[in-house]
Amino acid sequence: MLAAVTALALAAVCPDAVRADTEIAPADVLDLPGAWELSQGAGVVVAVIDSGTRLEHPDLAPNLWRNPAEVAGNRRDDDGNGYVDDVHGVDLTRRRGQDLHDDLGHGTHVAGTIAAAANGSGVVGVAYRARLMTIKVLDSAGNGTTGAVAEGIRYAAANGARIINLSVESTDDDRRVRAAVKAAAAADVLIVCSAGNGGADLDHSRLFPVSIAAPNLIGVAATDEANQSALTLFSNYGRLTVGVAAPGVDVLSTSRTGGYETKTGTSMASPHVTGVAALMAAAAPQLTAPELRGLLLEHAVHTDAPVGAGIVDALDSVRAARTATSFEAGQPPGVRILLATRREGVTRVQVALLGATQAVRQLAIRLDGRVIARVRAGRRVQTVAWRGRAGRRVTVTALAAGGRKLASASARVRALRMR
Ligand code: CA
Repeated sequence: MLAAVTALALAAVCPDAVRADTEIAPADVLDLPGAWELSQGAGVVVAVIDSGTRLEHPDLAPNLWRNPAEVAGNRRDDDGNGYVDDVHGVDLTRRRGQDLHDDLGHGTHVAGTIAAAANGSGVVGVAYRARLMTIKVLDSAGNGTTGAVAEGIRYAAANGARIINLSVESTDDDRRVRAAVKAAAAADVLIVCSAGNGGADLDHSRLFPVSIAAPNLIGVAATDEANQSALTLFSNYGRLTVGVAAPGVDVLSTSRTGGYETKTGTSMASPHVTGVAALMAAAAPQLTAPELRGLLLEHAVHTDAPVGAGIVDALDSVRAARTATSFEAGQPPGVRILLATRREGVTRVQVALLGATQAVRQLAIRLDGRVIARVRAGRRVQTVAWRGRAGRRVTVTALAAGGRKLASASARVRALRMR
């Protein structure tokens, strides 16, 4: 069983807190105004795996991710990514149809902290020019499945997200979630997880997904409102497990009814770090997910708080990202097949390009040795799907402008039964 990290996230609606002529920014402790001189997160796609989003909220509507090839409401999978009508994201709480609307309020609040628009009223998100991809896994009671989280991570990675916010928790150590985190690493996606609200030491007890040790995953504890260099009492912690801390008490953000509300919890701390990561990714697109994580840790403000590195520092992290050079970008190009499946007559192959990808012009797809498709190399992660021809083994070759072979990978096609 999966749950929203809402144990202490009691909403207090406070309509007076936001006046139409002012805009309230996330805590100054992050040093955001300085960071915004360097980056506003422009164009970085951030996936919020949560309870859905109030899509028409005036502070969120300008910053929604849009699947470019999907036509809304035509009941077809226009872009062939395996999901019907996934225009602004995907609803994984139901078998058929899309309803990204938020019946809980948790996801809308998280989304606002990450990327509420700087439009002169309401609130401003940490990365106010980022794009929000909604992946709904929690119902109106805040419950969901770890299977949906695993699928959501894969969806985000396959459809262009660079950062994923996961303000959810489960005691189940689901292998599918671990595998999806690994696939996201190959796609260079950073996953930011809330530490949970039990006041527990996660170096001695485990909670998922935050306890998954991975180079592309970082856990976030919540700081105290009065003393921003210490953790609040309810926050889980752990020097080995939880990397950083960020504000999580009385956080003002967007509400599912279209207004604003404050919420408290590590669920509210994690999106601050997600936003900072988006600022960094916009400032330095070449940085890998482990590099983003490493810079967040390295440039956190060190205090006595029992977390791995300290309190996240937006300005210092973004400045460091701007001047950092990527190890990965200097490596030879590589290809990794994240997924190769066949279901209901459709074969789907998800490919990640690694290293110096700018030299890669084309991908040649072979099925059992025969070339069946050539596609232009675009994003770092691409999905190629076709109906008809079946095969057992798929090979993907990355080609340079003159047709020179740069890298290649091969994988067995897994047959999936109809659900
Ligand atoms: Ca689709």
